[in-house]
Amino acid sequence: MQGRVDWARRFDHMQQHTGQHILSQACWQVLRAETVGFHLGDEASTIDLDVAGLDLGALERAEALANEVVFQDRPVRAAFFSEAEVAALPLRKPPAVRGEVRVVQVEGFDSSACGGTHVRRTGEVGPIAIVRVEHRGQESRVHFLCGHRATRDHRQRIRITSVLMAALTVGLGDLPDAVARLQEDLRAARKEAKDLRERVLDAETEALLAAAPQVGEWKVVRHLLPEGEATTLKWMAQRLTARPGVVALLALGGDRGQLAFACSEDIPLDMAALLREVPRAVGGGGGGGPRLAQGGGFAGARAAEALDLAWERLGQVGSSGNPTRRDG
Ligand SMILES: [Zn+2]
Repeated sequence: MQGRVDWARRFDHMQQHTGQHILSQACWQVLRAETVGFHLGDEASTIDLDVAGLDLGALERAEALANEVVFQDRPVRAAFFSEAEVAALPLRKPPAVRGEVRVVQVEGFDSSACGGTHVRRTGEVGPIAIVRVEHRGQESRVHFLCGHRATRDHRQRIRITSVLMAALTVGLGDLPDAVARLQEDLRAARKEAKDLRERVLDAETEALLAAAPQVGEWKVVRHLLPEGEATTLKWMAQRLTARPGVVALLALGGDRGQLAFACSEDIPLDMAALLREVPRAVGGGGGGGPRLAQGGGFAGARAAEALDLAWERLGQVGSSGNPTRRDG
């Protein structure tokens, strides 16, 4: 059997691993935060610090210290020490094993018991960049990148921010404000659109009422909207029947047919009963209560037919025992 070292991958892991030793020591010196976990990921690596609600400003200072140690290009040495020698070393954490222990030392900065692979000098780690912090109960998880990973991430951020800066015609530092302004503008525009839509619907509602025929004591609005949303239909039906003496038979065409039948509080009709047969006759279904019933699930092309049916059934109301009549 023969093995071969994938050097690019090995070197990348050496950078992340040595970077972790340096960053963990920096977090200890600046934050008095102990590293209780380390994970070398395919993208970012993480260290878990035994500190809740990490101070992000202090974390930035720890990152700066770690990079300072990189720029100082200190030697990194791994060697075995006897138990007695280990006891005299300033280890960041006590070793997990007894007897002879392998210790990795970043000269004058950090000593850790470790069996992993490391670079020979801190300069080889390259830049160390903290990219994210997760608050996890009593601990904080710090995501970081070293070496090529950090420069690739930097390149990607430049690419993305350049696109955003060009789109918003602002400099890097003004991006957050520009996005906040956009969000505010969007909120205002949405509210304005909603107000306008309601005013249009109000006007339509008034026009429908004005044109509706008087049937006995009631005004009956019968209307087919060629397109729109089911919520609009319901909203319109409720608007129309908010005043006394109105029956509204509304339908929506378009791709999928919708129905909304409603009546005012003073009208003793049962809209659910009126609706019952109608959508079924055109291939759909529906239901509701005495004052508002809705149907759907049929082809929009049959919406007019459904309205005719409802109109016909409404015409039959009056004879006693008609299921559409509510006990009054
Ligand atoms: Zn190590």
